Amino acid sequence: MPGTGGATVAEEFPVEKCSTCQANIIWATHEVSLKPAPLTADPDPNGTFALRMTEGNVTYRTVPMAKRFGRRDLRLNHYATCPQAGQHRNRGRVAA
Ligand SMILES: [Zn+2]
Repeated sequence: MPGTGGATVAEEFPVEKCSTCQANIIWATHEVSLKPAPLTADPDPNGTFALRMTEGNVTYRTVPMAKRFGRRDLRLNHYATCPQAGQHRNRGRVAA
């Protein structure tokens, strides 16, 4: 059995709630573009984003597919999974 020993240090990120579906999310800023995005608080097997704490700010970057293998700490963009995503897109409009 590989992988015994070598404790994995779980980094802690500030978890918030999605304003519409109340799922746990982590707001992070893209390392390069500085665009903020809500990522899923829990890692996902199909995740593509790696989170990191940088000087007190949570940043994320996209992990190339070739480097995702075996990783269990990658997240999805919550907008891709949020059941209320339509409300995010329509934010600012008043529904009748
Ligand atoms: Zn949501």
